[in-house]
Amino acid sequence: MSDITTDVVIIGAGPCGLFQIFELGLLGISAHLVDSLPIAGGQCAELYPEKPIYDIPALPVCGAQELVDRLMKQIEPFKPTFHLGEEVVEFARRDDGRFRVGTTAGKVFNAGAVVIAAGVGSFQPRRIGVEVKYSDAPAMTPSIAAACADLKLDRVIVVYPGTKRYALTRKVEVLPLRDVIGELQ
Ligand SMILES: Cc1cc2nc3c(=O)[nH]c(=O)nc-3n(C[C@H](O)[C@H](O)[C@H](O)COP(=O)(O)OP(=O)(O)OC[C@H]3O[C@@H](n4cnc5c(N)ncnc54)[C@H](O)[C@@H]3O)c2cc1C
Repeated sequence: MSDITTDVVIIGAGPCGLFQIFELGLLGISAHLVDSLPIAGGQCAELYPEKPIYDIPALPVCGAQELVDRLMKQIEPFKPTFHLGEEVVEFARRDDGRFRVGTTAGKVFNAGAVVIAAGVGSFQPRRIGVEVKYSDAPAMTPSIAAACADLKLDRVIVVYPGTKRYALTRKVEVLPLRDVIGELQ
């Protein structure tokens, strides 16, 4: 894959990265945006799209996803190129003073400047396992431990018909069936 030569690479397609496209666009500077999420909008789109926001100048109230949609509309004329679902894992200055930026998809950018709009950091999926037990008091088993290790799980929820919630290890928790739906939301 040959290098992508561009004026600017923006790391992060959250609200700051998106507005950066607008600011650069006004100066006639084009940019490529990279985000590990499969969607644009950063925390607003990923963590709280339905929440109202009350502190945006000139907008008394605005939904978080609405803010992202408005930013996307605002930058449309500048035709940015998005590289979503890719994490920037390499960033170095080249011998000619420009920058080399590499992503997990194997893309390499040759950029005149790099804007780091990475917010709270790169969003990563959490790997959650669910085990269903019929016992009244599930305990840790070798199969749960093996699943944690083999599947590199961040968390395991053991669902059972009882009423108490308790931890088996730091990563493994026993949850009553009735609590599970709320827990996974
Ligand atoms: C529950 C909640 C409610 C909030 N409510 C409000 C509110 O009402 N008003 C308000 O003003 N603020 C609010 N905030 C804060 C606001 O969401 C953040 O300040 C804002 O999202 C920051 O924008 P950003 O573009 O700097 O970063 P982010 O939104 O964090 O976006 C950064 C993006 O960069 C990407 N990224 C980082 N590193 C890499 C990498 N190496 N490669 C690829 N991609 C990368 C991430 O995946 C992410 O998508 C709230 C936050 C939360 C969690």
